[in-house]
Amino acid sequence: MDIKEAAIQIDSLRQQINENNRRYYVENAPVISDYDYDQLLYRLAELERQFPQLDTPDSPTHRVGSDLQAGLRFARKEHKYPMLSLGNTYSIEEVEDFAARAAKIINTSFTYSCELKFDGAGISLTYRHGRLVQALTRGDGVVGDDVTVNIRKIAGIPHTLRGSGWPEDFEIRGEILMPFSSFDRLNAEREDAGEEPFANPRNAASGSLKLLDSEEVGRRGLMCTLYHIPSQDIQNFEGHSQALDAAASWGLPVSDKRRLCANIEEIKDYIGYWDTERKNLPYATDGVVIKINSLEHQRDLGYTAKSPRWAVAYKFKAEEALTKVLSIDYQVGRTGAVTPVANMEPVFLSGTMVKRATLVNEDFIRSFDLHIGDTVKVVKGGEIIPKIIGVDLSARPADAALPVFPTVCPDCGTPLKKEEDQARWYCPNAGACPTQIKGRLLHFLSRKAMNVLCGEATIDQLYDRGYVRKPSDFYQLQMRQLMSLEGWKEKASSRFLESIEASKKVTFDHVLFALGIRYVGQTTAAMLASRFGSIEALAEASYEDLLAVEDIGETMARSIYEYFRTPSELEEIERLKAAGLQFDMKENATQKASDALAGMTVVVSGTFALSRDDMKALVAAHGGKAASGVSGKTSFLLAGEKPGPEKVKKAEELGVKIMSEAEFMALIGAGQPEAAKEEEAFPQDLFGGMI
Ligand SMILES: [Zn+2]
Repeated sequence: MDIKEAAIQIDSLRQQINENNRRYYVENAPVISDYDYDQLLYRLAELERQFPQLDTPDSPTHRVGSDLQAGLRFARKEHKYPMLSLGNTYSIEEVEDFAARAAKIINTSFTYSCELKFDGAGISLTYRHGRLVQALTRGDGVVGDDVTVNIRKIAGIPHTLRGSGWPEDFEIRGEILMPFSSFDRLNAEREDAGEEPFANPRNAASGSLKLLDSEEVGRRGLMCTLYHIPSQDIQNFEGHSQALDAAASWGLPVSDKRRLCANIEEIKDYIGYWDTERKNLPYATDGVVIKINSLEHQRDLGYTAKSPRWAVAYKFKAEEALTKVLSIDYQVGRTGAVTPVANMEPVFLSGTMVKRATLVNEDFIRSFDLHIGDTVKVVKGGEIIPKIIGVDLSARPADAALPVFPTVCPDCGTPLKKEEDQARWYCPNAGACPTQIKGRLLHFLSRKAMNVLCGEATIDQLYDRGYVRKPSDFYQLQMRQLMSLEGWKEKASSRFLESIEASKKVTFDHVLFALGIRYVGQTTAAMLASRFGSIEALAEASYEDLLAVEDIGETMARSIYEYFRTPSELEEIERLKAAGLQFDMKENATQKASDALAGMTVVVSGTFALSRDDMKALVAAHGGKAASGVSGKTSFLLAGEKPGPEKVKKAEELGVKIMSEAEFMALIGAGQPEAAKEEEAFPQDLFGGMI
């Protein structure tokens, strides 16, 4: 390959990697597997090695993923020692090379500590005088977010150490994991609430760590596993493994799946064992980490710029299996979207029997030219939900049939529709399609909507009896009706009615979300409620008015506009109004003024849960003055996500305090805006494994 050709390839690889980074980190919706992603990265690194003149500092091979992009919500602190990533490999030969290199340098007998590589979010804990004093995320490896309040809510992390012998001041590092059971529960809740589910437990763990509501963190069922104490902090221990044993005796959560290995054969045994056995673990692991155990040898071997020379990570390949597609079901969701699902010959994959795989949408089926009867390759990696990644065309039986995508709703028979620039077909019969109606009713009552505890089974019962067809019917329910349902006693019935009654006090932003307007999630609902103040004002807004609102695009504006021009929806709103629900912002934050900011000059920069204008209005309502430029007179810079870099720089130079949205809300006593609670997940580095 000549340099010209290399330059073209490098350019293309960087583009692909950056695009996938964006999908992964920002959209939280990876489109390629971790394995394929790593292959792109390896190819790029290899080319840059061959053509060093084409290697530039901004190449994705030199940047580790950062979880700091989320704005300035948490205080940032420097790590005592940088948190580095491990070199990783999918090849046993490279593990052999690693062992051979180490043996050559160490030149005496030594052992390896082999450990599972956990697939979670990196964390560094500091204990001082036996007490947990700080917890930092990995951040960019040098600076991390201080999430100590959240970490204190995670079960299994001791606030105080027990036993004796712990260093007076030390760091211990590891990972926050979300076990599969918690992950499934969380995603089910999110889907009920009309939110995007997390792609995998790693993203869910990472997103949970950055929540502003630490009580919610406590409810998420996270766990912690610790696996590294920087050798500088444990001078009196000989080996890494002994230090971890001691840490376990102090009450710290350390994995008991570690093993000391004397040679490469034992390492291979360990890898082989866990490649199968990991499928029985209740949490995600994606490889094995092999560390030279002696701390003295670790110090001798030292570090490259990016990773230690005394450790390597071996990554398991996502498991694949071949099986046959028997038929395709078409399922209707709450919003009417029709999702094709393949029924397959059962096959054992990553510890579970797999019988069904999502086929996403019609385009996805066409992209493989999938036929019914085809032999397909299925993977189940970090994504959890099995996915078809290819078709073995050579194995196609003669009678294999091309799937016929339905033209009518499999549930109610209404002709399906497809919106321009959308890949999914949907049933437009929102008003009478049973699955959609039940889905909407369930959404209406969900926790972040009207907050009435109600499961699918109850909805089925109420629907089947004909008691409830639309949300307003909940407010007409009678005690005797509920008590006539199978399994309902007086207590449960009256509690349900009380809960319905209590929902009349739920604020307008939640009510707006509960209505289930297509594309209007919780964040948008909160923003619309604060911007328009009442349902009448929102209903009167023109398409252009809506489009002019920050973050509202054409699809969403059209959807909202049409919603308020649909007679059946307007009639339902009238019924809900008559029932006593909140349809305006009575407790508008801007009217609840205080003197919290009296005499202060505040510069507002970045994006917030509310619009920037609304944030300025809040400043004014609480007695402060909003200014546009940072100067010596600025009291503080109120920074949302992606604040102006010059403003941040200026503030830092002048020693002006930079305040996060959360701190600000606390200062004015407004609590958290609902929309700011959930943050996108920012996963760990691109190389997997960290130190
Ligand atoms: Zn339908």
